[in-house]
Amino acid sequence: MSLDPELRRALAQCVRYYHELGIYDFYRRAAPESQTDTSAVDGAPVLAATLQSELREEMPARKSAVSPVVEESIFEVATPKREYGITDPVAALKIIREDLGDCTRCRLHQQGRKQIVFGVGNPRAELMFVGEGPGADEDTQGEPFVGRAGQLLNNMIKAMGIRREDVYIANIVKCRPPGNRTPERDECETCSPFLMRQIAVIKPKVVVALGAVAAKNLLAMNASMSELRGRFYDFIPAGARSSDPTWQGTKLAVTYHPAFLLRDPRQKGEAWKDLQMVMRFLGLEPPKKSE
Ligand code: SF4
Repeated sequence: MSLDPELRRALAQCVRYYHELGIYDFYRRAAPESQTDTSAVDGAPVLAATLQSELREEMPARKSAVSPVVEESIFEVATPKREYGITDPVAALKIIREDLGDCTRCRLHQQGRKQIVFGVGNPRAELMFVGEGPGADEDTQGEPFVGRAGQLLNNMIKAMGIRREDVYIANIVKCRPPGNRTPERDECETCSPFLMRQIAVIKPKVVVALGAVAAKNLLAMNASMSELRGRFYDFIPAGARSSDPTWQGTKLAVTYHPAFLLRDPRQKGEAWKDLQMVMRFLGLEPPKKSE
């Protein structure tokens, strides 16, 4: 499509500006039928989407959380989510679940999922765990981390001196990838905006990313686990806004996925170091031996 280079540059600058603000969701307002011809101005939304796609490739920072089924435009930016302004996290999470609906936004909806695994736990949790995606047990029961890896996660939580029901647990993708394969990048990008909204509503003090897939998707960093672990990151959920204007985001720590620890138990000591770092930050004490 040919377009005035001046306008093209201005659109690119505009998209880049919104990316720098942390806004990645662009929506295209349906045009009245009378305006669906091919004039230069009507072509601008399509061009903006193209430019955004180019920028996405050249930017090392967070990848867009844009659903591939959503048409993009710079002219209508980040429609306020329905939970904004709702201070009760239970009600706000309910709204996010309603928005998710019987989701068909990515291909995982037609690859054998039994149900959507939204997330579970305390809507006011100070600590949140985020894994990769549901497995077979989670798909059957509709709850994250209920299989063998879930049992290990429960033990890790218990070792921290808290209970499973004290924390909130969710995944990057909410439907089971077939054969427990790693979720594809576009599936993560399509699903994770709902997780971002959940985090913004719960406002935990710490998010623990379980495994490389969760860590890389949350942090938009391509690094090894040894590079990602052992420190806190300042984390603000991309594209989501808390109803509490004073909330400045959360700390994020990375540790091994419990499924990995089941395969390589020698790394449990390393995971425990990560959890101890989180415990120090939250002022948690491990339970006494007799408890
Ligand atoms: S994984 Fe997420 S985006 Fe994909 S179909 Fe399931 S709920 Fe929808």
